[in-house]
Amino acid sequence: MNWEVVIGLETHAQLTTASKIFSGASTRFGASPNTQVSAIDLAMPGTLPVLNKGAVERAIRFGLAVGGTIAPLSAFERKNYFYPDLPKGYQISQYVQPVVTGGGLAIVVGDKDGFVPLTRAHLEEDAGKLLHDAVAGRSGVDLNRAGTPLLEIVTEPAMRSAAEAVAYAKALHSLVRWIGICDGNMQEGSFRCDANVSVRRRGDPLGTRCEIKNLNSFRFLEKAIEFEVRRQVELIGDGGRVVQETRLFDPDRGETRPMRSKEDAQDYRYFPDPDLLPVAIAPQWIEEVRRSMPALPEALRRDFLGYGMSPYDAALLTESREKAEFFRASLAATKISQPVSLAHWVNGEMSALLNERNLDFAASPVAPRDFARLHDRVQDSTLSSKAAKEVLHAMTAGEGDPDAIIERKGLRQISDSGALEEAVREALAANPKLVEDYRAGKEKAFNALVGQVMKATKGKGNPQEVSRILRERLAS
Ligand code: ADP
Ligand code: MG
Repeated sequence: MNWEVVIGLETHAQLTTASKIFSGASTRFGASPNTQVSAIDLAMPGTLPVLNKGAVERAIRFGLAVGGTIAPLSAFERKNYFYPDLPKGYQISQYVQPVVTGGGLAIVVGDKDGFVPLTRAHLEEDAGKLLHDAVAGRSGVDLNRAGTPLLEIVTEPAMRSAAEAVAYAKALHSLVRWIGICDGNMQEGSFRCDANVSVRRRGDPLGTRCEIKNLNSFRFLEKAIEFEVRRQVELIGDGGRVVQETRLFDPDRGETRPMRSKEDAQDYRYFPDPDLLPVAIAPQWIEEVRRSMPALPEALRRDFLGYGMSPYDAALLTESREKAEFFRASLAATKISQPVSLAHWVNGEMSALLNERNLDFAASPVAPRDFARLHDRVQDSTLSSKAAKEVLHAMTAGEGDPDAIIERKGLRQISDSGALEEAVREALAANPKLVEDYRAGKEKAFNALVGQVMKATKGKGNPQEVSRILRERLAS
């Protein structure tokens, strides 16, 4: 069957403000229950919300980063529903006048470029959390999270596979951290995705969707969508119909399960919150925010492609701002400019070493200046790439700058032709059988001879030079 998968994502990014969106209580994660709750978060009678300017500023940053439209006038509305983690009985959100509309994100799936258009990004407050294990036989409520500022980022139903959805989620995750509006900590719930999934036969109108809630890892997102697609295709294939509902993903069983039937907008009785004035966002404010923006990942990625590196390497380098900055600073410090090779070293060995130590590029024990010097030593043939890896390990362990390590460990590669010619002469004299085999057309014998010379130089002979001299000798 020719099925087409349709996916739209709604992502909640917790904003990096120190205090909540409508109160002065702290947003710090991990405090004991109900220690970061103000009278406003508790919805005590007579209290009034006061909008946190920093939350609006972050929404503007996001809008600029995705090329969206910033509303000159943005308003808050009440989304009414009853649940014990929501003291007011409504959530303050935005509906008809969100801060951001439109815009989109470039994504890379494998080696293919794509673009995911956004519908909107709006501000809202988070709810509290129910604790079912804290008190035996009862449920408790922790309101520390109530009133935490969120930016909800909604895409058009534009993605066509789980891989595209994951690529989008990763690009978005990288972007919100890049522009400093969200710490992206998925374990702590600072970045969570809801996936809307439907299937249709090619050419048909959109099918009925299910929404899978609160996916807080890229792997769960992928697994949940894959399961849901299979379920819907089977259901329709068996003559059934998909009912619109909200589902939960169970990571242990790798399946989605119904949670509740889906509400429609009218169920929420949205109306403008009379406690909050609409926010006028003046063009000067937008300009001020624009001036404070860093170079964006997509612009850097295009620069990097201009250096001739693969789309894969360029995408990997722009995964985080710290990594891209590390690459840029290293490249600027190299004497021998070879960006493609440098990108390999940053994405390969350097990333692996930091991963092992659970560090990101901002905390790299190797400074870009030293990394550049090491790379120069590979380019000027002082080091074989194997020896360079050894030096990099030592640098990461804090053993000093590359030149000192090279001398101390005696890792300098022998490129001096006098010394190499001597070693070649000896290898040829000691291995007449290999020479004979080579002359009889056995290419393997050549590699064995290279091996002999490398052994004689304790692995420090420059392999290209060794091969060149050997060929020369064998030809004469
Ligand atoms: P709601 O207000 O119920 O959350 P929206 O219309 O705002 O619904 O859409 C929410 C998300 O669902 C958006 O990301 C949108 O792209 C996506 N979506 C809408 N229709 C479909 C569909 N038929 N299949 C998959 N995703 C869809
Ligand atoms: Mg929604």
